[in-house]
Amino acid sequence: MSKGFFKLPNFNCEKVKSYKSDSNELNDVIQEYQRMWDKKREIPMIIGGSEVHTEKKNNIKVPHNHKHTIGSYSIAKKNHVKDAIKSALDAKKKWEELSWENRASIFLKAADLLSGPFRSKMNASTMISQSKSFHQAEIDAACEMIDFFRFNVKFMTEIYHDQPESSEKIWNKLEYRPLEGFIYAITPFNFTSIAANLCVAPAMMGNTIVWKPSENQIYSANIIMDLLKESGLPDGVINLIYGDPNDITDEILSSKYFSGLHFTGSTDVFKGLWKKIGNNINKYINYPRIVGETGGKDFIIAHSSANVNQVVAGIIRGAFEYQGQKCSAASRAYISSNLWDEVKDKLISELNSIKIGDPIDPKNFMNAVISEKSFDKIKKYIINAKKDKDVEIIFGGNYSKKVGFFIEPTVIVSKDPKYVTMTEELFGPVITIYVYKELNFDSILSLIDETSIYALTGAIFSNDRYSIDLALQKLKNSAGNFYINDKPTGAVVSQQPFGGSRSSGTNDKAGSKLNLLRWVSPRTIKENFLPASDFRYPFME
Ligand code: NAD
Repeated sequence: MSKGFFKLPNFNCEKVKSYKSDSNELNDVIQEYQRMWDKKREIPMIIGGSEVHTEKKNNIKVPHNHKHTIGSYSIAKKNHVKDAIKSALDAKKKWEELSWENRASIFLKAADLLSGPFRSKMNASTMISQSKSFHQAEIDAACEMIDFFRFNVKFMTEIYHDQPESSEKIWNKLEYRPLEGFIYAITPFNFTSIAANLCVAPAMMGNTIVWKPSENQIYSANIIMDLLKESGLPDGVINLIYGDPNDITDEILSSKYFSGLHFTGSTDVFKGLWKKIGNNINKYINYPRIVGETGGKDFIIAHSSANVNQVVAGIIRGAFEYQGQKCSAASRAYISSNLWDEVKDKLISELNSIKIGDPIDPKNFMNAVISEKSFDKIKKYIINAKKDKDVEIIFGGNYSKKVGFFIEPTVIVSKDPKYVTMTEELFGPVITIYVYKELNFDSILSLIDETSIYALTGAIFSNDRYSIDLALQKLKNSAGNFYINDKPTGAVVSQQPFGGSRSSGTNDKAGSKLNLLRWVSPRTIKENFLPASDFRYPFME
């Protein structure tokens, strides 16, 4: 029970550390990475706060050195899934009754622990198991996760403060109840922070969770659980299980207490989940909330007035950081014909300076793609592009999985603006460029809008305000996050709420109050201080 309207501590977005050579932060992460490399961990599921090991296990391989194993994880059987649901339901009563400031304290403490003693552990685990560079791990596993923890606390208090008007002798209140039942969080491999947030955002609002992470993020998922335990999160609030996604999901979606899905991953998987939930709709005690952020085919458009160096930097960072495995990564670009020769020369010369390899070597701008499955998928598109006559690979196009799953940054130029790599999500270090006639800017905007089923991120580089305004109008439904003279990646919690529509998701904007609102079911309470004691109205006298 709260006995005060408590003010939150002041905070800003977490500062990104630079990892300069010989800095303490660099040496700390290297030591932690080495320790993880040398010591194999048997990673348990966490159900009701207990570590659960099973006989059936899978190895965790390192994407940039796939012969090396850093541990193994246990595979859930049906009874473990049932246990996880029960544990979430059992923990719910006490958790939802805990006052908001107690919940807030846990997540603010988690942010401070991650900003300090957990930082190098979280970063190193993300580097080793998801093949991220120092910088990419830092902006994700440290900074973005810290920002999610802190700002979600702030958004929670803003929601609670949002109260209806009252009138004379009447007090109206809105009580933001958590959903009745439990939440199912299914998380992707590519952002450790997203994995944490998909659990923490509903938990912040008083819900309890069953969490199934990607098989390629289990190593850092376990560190998230260690962090939350040390922050004081009660047992059973988040229950972490691994195993066959279909088996686990079928069991969970058949529970009548399933009350919401918090998903991030690919579009087809999300559509399949939506269908399953629809088929089970008569089983549930409530209409489940369905929140999903999914794929993208994110674009950069360079207007004839754009600055060439800025366009090239935007393409390289936007398309190739983290090997193009960001949902927001630029994977199609439209360059005005007057700029093309210069853009092409500069792009090729800059890409020649990029080094690819092990994340532990800070000189490497790029590392491995996540898995053999992903490597083979991207390779297929590259092989086809080498054969197709409408397209030319002007940079990269080589790959090797001898040691790790490495693919060169690859630039395809297509004469066909609807070529397959202009429309489908590859999720790798490949960008396809279409050069449009300078005078066709208006019609190229219509083409961009119609080209793909997705609408996640997009960027325009231009120094002409009319062209920017036109793009904003014509592309209003083509991207949920639109950038002017900036790359289309790198959304910051609290600054650029993130999410897209069309086949990119339900656009519930992670990193904002809008997302937290999906995890509550408000109850309106009207109290009358002087109720009527006679049913007759004055006009009846
Ligand atoms: P994925 O769809 O392969 O897997 C995501 C999660 O879904 C994993 O936990 C996986 O085990 C689970 N899953 C897979 N099949 C399932 C099934 N049949 N039933 C239930 N669960 C199932 O995606 P990924 O490779 O981990 O991540 C990359 C994808 O995520 C890309 O499409 C990317 O665009 C998208 N993504 C989107 C955002 C966003 O905010 N829009 C952010 C990150 C990633």
